Amino acid sequence: MFDKFRDECGVFGIYGHPEAAKLAYLGLYALQHRGQESAGIASADGERVRLVRQMGYVNDIFNEATLAPLSGPIAIGHTRYSTAGESRLSNAQPILIDCVHGQVGICHNGNIVNANEVRDRLVRAGSIFQTNSDTEVVLHLYARSQAGSVEDALVESVTQLTGAFSFALITKDSMIAVRDPHGFRPLALGKLDEAWVVSSETCALDLIGATYVRDVEPGEVLIAGPDGLRSIKPFPKSALSHCIFEHVYFARPDSEVFGQSVNEVRTNLGRVLARETGVDADVVVPIPDSGVCAAIGYSEESKIPLRMGLIRNHYVGRTFIEPAQSIRHFGVKVKLNPVKSILAGKRVVLIDDSLVRGTTSRKIVKMVRASGAAEVHLRISCPPTISPCFYGVDTPRRQELIGATHTLEEIRKYVAADTIGYLSLGGLLSSVKGQGASYCTSCYTGQYPVAFPRDHNGYLQLSLKIDGRRELPEQEPETVG
Ligand code: AMP
Repeated sequence: MFDKFRDECGVFGIYGHPEAAKLAYLGLYALQHRGQESAGIASADGERVRLVRQMGYVNDIFNEATLAPLSGPIAIGHTRYSTAGESRLSNAQPILIDCVHGQVGICHNGNIVNANEVRDRLVRAGSIFQTNSDTEVVLHLYARSQAGSVEDALVESVTQLTGAFSFALITKDSMIAVRDPHGFRPLALGKLDEAWVVSSETCALDLIGATYVRDVEPGEVLIAGPDGLRSIKPFPKSALSHCIFEHVYFARPDSEVFGQSVNEVRTNLGRVLARETGVDADVVVPIPDSGVCAAIGYSEESKIPLRMGLIRNHYVGRTFIEPAQSIRHFGVKVKLNPVKSILAGKRVVLIDDSLVRGTTSRKIVKMVRASGAAEVHLRISCPPTISPCFYGVDTPRRQELIGATHTLEEIRKYVAADTIGYLSLGGLLSSVKGQGASYCTSCYTGQYPVAFPRDHNGYLQLSLKIDGRRELPEQEPETVG
């Protein structure tokens, strides 16, 4: 439930609406949960592409004044939490360049696995990189392409990439969506009147009143331009590897992801969890917000009543300063407060979506006990997280993942629960359509569907960090054009 891990990113694009940038702005509100570090919008009017981006929340960045320059019927937008590259304004997206093929802006969700390799090759050939984000390699490939059209140059560029990428791109007169052939990250296509819309999640389509049409297909390049909507499939056919963690944690429960309702999957996870790890108890309590859907399923299946025994303060925001080291667990307390009348004297089943380092759960279990709970049974609606993600989810290195380094009994002791239970991998896969054959489960299995350079950066992330420093946010939004 907490933001100590870095989220991925949200991408949005719209072609053919007089208020394109404003709709992108609204869409980004619905994608804020996918990244809270920076946000940006680029718009085009047939002649020029303009850009506004800044560190911070969508709400902090955009207002009448910052949206004003973003004219034209085409726009793309991005919310970011870096999974590759430092946290700084130059790494915020969209990234906009001008080259022989004209201006192009890009938004990316995912992680390009061969980014370092491509970057090294390009740098040796004379490329000068402006950012240390993996996304910039696409623009260099594009700018260097000798192809005769924007479309051919783009296809030539994206087909050199491996890994996870859902892109929204903008040129002076088109919006282009690209999804990697494995379909790691979601990307939905919608329609609003005559306008085409793409979004990481369908909840953004709902917000702007667009109708969901279909997903941008894995391996598809979709071009919305003066000639209408055109689809190209330039990638060799590959096995699907949808990220199962989108269903477990990332996506919003009101979204349809990979053709299935996230809420429905999460509730299923809770039902199966109850069947697999049932325990005698008086009350099921979700850790909000991440544990809520699974707790509903758990309660339905176990017939143990669901109660909101922990209340979340939704107004804490990103930065929170602990006033004194002596005030223990203040960070958890400011975000969550236990409801004593629900917990006191009760045998509590506490439900969360995942356990990563175990530190949050440990504090919450303690808090629940301090409220007088007679027993605390921790239940996790996914299998133990044992391997870092290389496809766009920022997970800590393997040695920091409690599921990788400790036995179940050691984890139980660490979090100080009476019992602990995880969902099995089979239980997880049985909760999604198609029995999970099309999913990437590398965080639970250590089996990676797309090879990555193992020795890179201490086997953590495909980060292009130069010195590991995280720069302070710059104050003024960056406006280009
Ligand atoms: P921990 O205390 O390290 O075990 O953290 C577990 C909490 O982090 C759970 O409440 C999860 O919902 C949340 N969580 C798990 N993975 C991520 C992620 N990649 N980004 C943000 N939060 C996460």
